[in-house]
Amino acid sequence: MSVFRPEKLFGIIGHPLGHTMSPLLHNWGFTEHKIPAVYMAWPTEPEKVKSFMRTFRDLPISGASVTIPHKLSVMNYTDQLTERAESVGAVNTLFWRDDKIVGDNTDAAGVSEPLRPYSDHIHKALLIGAGGAARAAITGFKELGIKKIFITNRTKSKADELAEEFKISVVDWDNRGDQHYDLIVNSTSLGMSGKFVDINPMIMDNQDEHTVVFDLVYNPMETVFIREAKAKGCRAIHGIEMFIHQGLEQFRLWTGINVDEKKARELLLEHLRG
Ligand code: NAP
Repeated sequence: MSVFRPEKLFGIIGHPLGHTMSPLLHNWGFTEHKIPAVYMAWPTEPEKVKSFMRTFRDLPISGASVTIPHKLSVMNYTDQLTERAESVGAVNTLFWRDDKIVGDNTDAAGVSEPLRPYSDHIHKALLIGAGGAARAAITGFKELGIKKIFITNRTKSKADELAEEFKISVVDWDNRGDQHYDLIVNSTSLGMSGKFVDINPMIMDNQDEHTVVFDLVYNPMETVFIREAKAKGCRAIHGIEMFIHQGLEQFRLWTGINVDEKKARELLLEHLRG
C-alpha cells in the first residue's frame, strides 16, 4: 500500500473561515498533478496574524491564501509586495521568491479574466459597492483598459474615497439605474443567501442585451441580480468565476502549473449544487 507523504504545506487564513472552497480546489489540483502537497484551512483570529506569519517563515509554509479580515494586516509581515498587490492595496496570496515572503493579489485577475472575452465592447462600467472586493474590481477594470469607470455605494463617503484614490467617477446611489452601462459589477453583499437574498443591488430599467453583468456573489449561484439581468437580455457572469480565476492564479504562482479550468469549474459547481 502506498502512503501519501506530503512534502509541502499550504493553507488559508481568515476569520471566520466558514465553508471555504479553497481547500477543495487546491487539494484537487495537487492530486490531479501528483504534487505531494496538502492545503489546509487555518481559522486565525486577528490578534494571531503576527504569530501565524512567524510560523509561515519558520516552518516554512510553502504558500497561503489570505481572506477577510487579514488582507491588509498581513502586508506588515511580508518582505515584498507585487505591483498588483500594491495597486489593489491588499494581499490575498503569500508565496516564496528565493528567501523572501511575497504578498500578491489574485482577486483582480478573478475579476478581469472572466470579463476578458467581452473587453473590446466594454467602454463604460458601473461598480456597485466600495468594500474590499471593489478595490480588486477597479484594478481588474484598469487591467482590461476600461476607460470610463463609475462607482456607487450606499455609504457615499466610501465611494468618494475609492474614486479619489483610483481616479474614477461617483454616481449617487439613488441614481445608479439612470444610465446604460456596458458592464455592471456587483461587489456588495446584496443578493447573498440569507436576509439579502431577494434584494437586487441594481435597477435594471436602462440595461439591455448590450450590457454584461457580473455578480461577485456566488451563493446562491443564480442571484436575483443575475436572474433579472438575464430577463432584460443582458449577458451574465456568475460569482463563481471570480473564485475560480483567483484560485487558479494562486495555484499557478505556487506550482507553475495551469490547472484545467473546465475541470475546476465542474468540481466547484458540483460542490455548490451538492
Ligand atoms: P465588504 O468589504 O464588507 O463590503 C461590503 C459592501 O456591501 C459595501 O459596499 C457595503 O456598503 C455593501 N452593503 C452591505 N450591505 C448593504 C445593504 N444593505 N445595502 C447596500 N449595500 C450594502 O465586503 P467585500 O469583501 O467587498 O465582499 C463583497 C461581496 O463580494 C460579498 O458578497 C462577497 O461574498 C463577494 N466576494 C466574492 C468573491 C468571489 O470569489 N466571487 C471574492 C470576494 C468577495 P456600505 O459601505 O454602505 O456598508
